Amino acid sequence: MDKFDAIVVGAGPAGCATAYTMAREGLQVLVLERGKYPGAKNMWGGAFFGPVMEEIFPDFWKEAPVERSVSRHTISMLTEHESLSFDFRSDRADKNHGFIILRAKFDQWLAKKAEQAGAIIATSLEADDFLYEGGAVAGVKVGSESFPASVVILADGANSLLAAKAGLRKEFGLHDVKQGVKEVIQLPREVIEDRFGLQDDEGAALEFIGSCTRGLPGGGFLYTNHDSLSVGVVVQLAAVGEQKVKASDLLEDFKNHPLIQRYISKGKTVEYSAHLIPVTGVKILPTFAKDGILITGDAAGLVLGTGLILEGANFAMASGVAAAQTVIKAKKAGDFTTKALDHYEGLLKSRFVLKELNAFKRAPEFLENERIYNTYPELLCSAAMKMFENDGTVREGSFKTLMGSMKGKISIWQLMKDAWMAKESL
Ligand SMILES: Cc1cc2nc3c(=O)[nH]c(=O)nc-3n(C[C@H](O)[C@H](O)[C@H](O)COP(=O)(O)OP(=O)(O)OC[C@H]3O[C@@H](n4cnc5c(N)ncnc54)[C@H](O)[C@@H]3O)c2cc1C
Repeated sequence: MDKFDAIVVGAGPAGCATAYTMAREGLQVLVLERGKYPGAKNMWGGAFFGPVMEEIFPDFWKEAPVERSVSRHTISMLTEHESLSFDFRSDRADKNHGFIILRAKFDQWLAKKAEQAGAIIATSLEADDFLYEGGAVAGVKVGSESFPASVVILADGANSLLAAKAGLRKEFGLHDVKQGVKEVIQLPREVIEDRFGLQDDEGAALEFIGSCTRGLPGGGFLYTNHDSLSVGVVVQLAAVGEQKVKASDLLEDFKNHPLIQRYISKGKTVEYSAHLIPVTGVKILPTFAKDGILITGDAAGLVLGTGLILEGANFAMASGVAAAQTVIKAKKAGDFTTKALDHYEGLLKSRFVLKELNAFKRAPEFLENERIYNTYPELLCSAAMKMFENDGTVREGSFKTLMGSMKGKISIWQLMKDAWMAKESL
């Protein structure tokens, strides 16, 4: 087997961005993907913010298989019977508001771009170990087969076993990851547009907190595709274990909520998937580079989760581009040692990747507060219920009604503490 300049493990957004950027500069690049095709094993909620895509592939949305562009964002608090929503719509919403995307189609398109630039994409191959030369990583192994390379870039996602094997990081703890489960539910296009108030290729991204996770840290989501809906929940893995609930049961609860039922009614489930998301940001950052190896995307824990935002794909692609630029420089210098590859961390620090993770470094701790998922949805929905009903008794002012709803549920002191923490974290 010839020696490649670089081997990329994983053909997700991080791996494809890395491979494309290196191959375009004439490097010999091999991408190993364990799925039958890129995207076969991959899932996400579906809202993709594309500034990095735009840098790599200008006007990508005109060509890439995007489902809809997001013109409506909602955040809703759910109790068992009620919901209270913040609903943002704009007919001026542009590409910066994101696109809704299905991974099976999108990852194949990205991989094709890397292939057209000159990378070799080899599927149904799971890298399970490394080759070493004088202590430095010098390629990967797939079973008994060896694939030598000057440098290996890990882009193998949240479950990366190779990251620990290379000594780049420990396995993620149960508090550091959320489990996501999702169904794709088919519905006619006109029904979707009618139910969500959309026109043409407009899309809606709906996020939920509260009873959808039975008050556990996490939330629900619902995104509109062309002719299907992506419906799912994400929940902290530690809480799932401690409370002995199954994420799949939470998804059933969520689908049966009166608000969600209206949206998905008469739909047919055509896909079910589950995946982990690393969500504690800077707390779990790895050693980014060692002799002959770099780590990118979810494998490196580069996901921004603030409760309002869950963004991983953009971070995965930006880290992939930074890794590729580092390798291109290292090849020119003929130096793949840790010292040369450390340039990568510098690039991550100079971009939004580590800047935003640092800006929101307190968010993961704040999001462990169970009042966000229990007390506040209950309190605000019950206040709304009182404000909007007329049972014949003399009504009080809105502020008094809200204070009345707080009685026995939360003290002013706790409320102020949570407000302060929210200000500091989000
Ligand atoms: C439920 C859920 C909802 C999400 N919602 C959003 C969202 O709305 N917006 C957003 O931006 N992000 C979202 N994310 C996060 C986003 O999916 C990830 O951050 C992003 O996919 C990371 O890209 P990646 O390339 O690093 O890893 P992945 O997308 O996980 O790709 C890793 C690839 O490596 C392959 N692989 C793994 N191990 C090996 C191996 N040993 N050998 C060969 N190949 C291997 C896998 O098959 C896969 O193709 C969500 C995630 C989940 C789970």
